[in-house]
Amino acid sequence: MTGQPSPGEFDLIAWFRERTEVRGRTMLGIGDDCAILRASPAELLITTDMLMDGRHFRLDRDEPGDIGYKALAVNLSDIAAMAGVPIAAVVAVALPRDRAVEVARGIHAGMIALAERFEVDLVGGDTNAWDGPLVISVTVLGEATPRGPVRRSGARPGDAILLTGPLGGSLLGRHLRPEPRVAEALVLHHKAPLHALIDISDGLASDLGHILEESGGLGAVLDADSIPIHPDALTMSRQDGRPAIDHALHDGEDFELCVVLAPGDADRLVQSPPLSAAVHRVGTITATPGLWLLGEDGVSSPVAARGFDHLRPGPG
Ligand code: ADP
Ligand code: MG
Repeated sequence: MTGQPSPGEFDLIAWFRERTEVRGRTMLGIGDDCAILRASPAELLITTDMLMDGRHFRLDRDEPGDIGYKALAVNLSDIAAMAGVPIAAVVAVALPRDRAVEVARGIHAGMIALAERFEVDLVGGDTNAWDGPLVISVTVLGEATPRGPVRRSGARPGDAILLTGPLGGSLLGRHLRPEPRVAEALVLHHKAPLHALIDISDGLASDLGHILEESGGLGAVLDADSIPIHPDALTMSRQDGRPAIDHALHDGEDFELCVVLAPGDADRLVQSPPLSAAVHRVGTITATPGLWLLGEDGVSSPVAARGFDHLRPGPG
């Protein structure tokens, strides 16, 4: 912590330390100037994500446990999106002074339950308090499997596009408790070489757009009928009158994976999905740039990539 330690900071760190077991790769966790992890020859994956009160959650409405869960989950989702194995996490918090200890403990409880379920060690962090709003930043380290990490850049014309689950309407509440698709990515990548992979944080259209762009300016056709629509998207559609498919294409924070692979491999995975990794085939990569939605009437219409962008004005 920078500057004078806030009262109780060290008690709080001692409290975290007592509740944080380490195993595996970790030789030293919370308590020293750095954590010590045993290095492995595999490619090391590193990702970080910051959540801010008023932007990604609202502390006056959301539970600290949910906020802690989400802060780690979004990082685990990024490791999943490389088909990696998460290993360790560090967490930095700027706590609102008036609720510092209560909020910190709640965050830790939500986070540690998820960390244990994914066998990720919480190996360190930084604890600050101030008169500003809650900010929480988590960094996760992971490693690639022998098949290597899966980038956004490997899609090829003719490849199939799969989704690991239904999309849309996550803002009704489930955005706080996303299920990181770590095991799903690993089993799929083990069964077939994945060409490109991304987790859907900004909306399918926008995130698939990243794959198309990074893969050299390709396009895609999505089949409207085969896109799995979450019940929350139907509820939101009834509330706001926008078609549910719009929510499925453009709502963010689903954290399902968008998987691109050879069409033969896709057929095989769809026909006999590996245990616990249901996949839906939703479209095809094309050499011609642009994103198209094929309707049930057989007519294609262009899809605008209008997912959430933090640097652009607008709601969110
Ligand atoms: P330093 O001043 O050397 O950076 P700190 O007093 O900030 O040390 O932290 C002491 C120990 O507690 C370190 O191991 C640090 O990683 C850990 N730590 C601090 N805050 C947190 C937190 N919020 N969650 C987990 N570990 C933490
Ligand atoms: Mg130090």
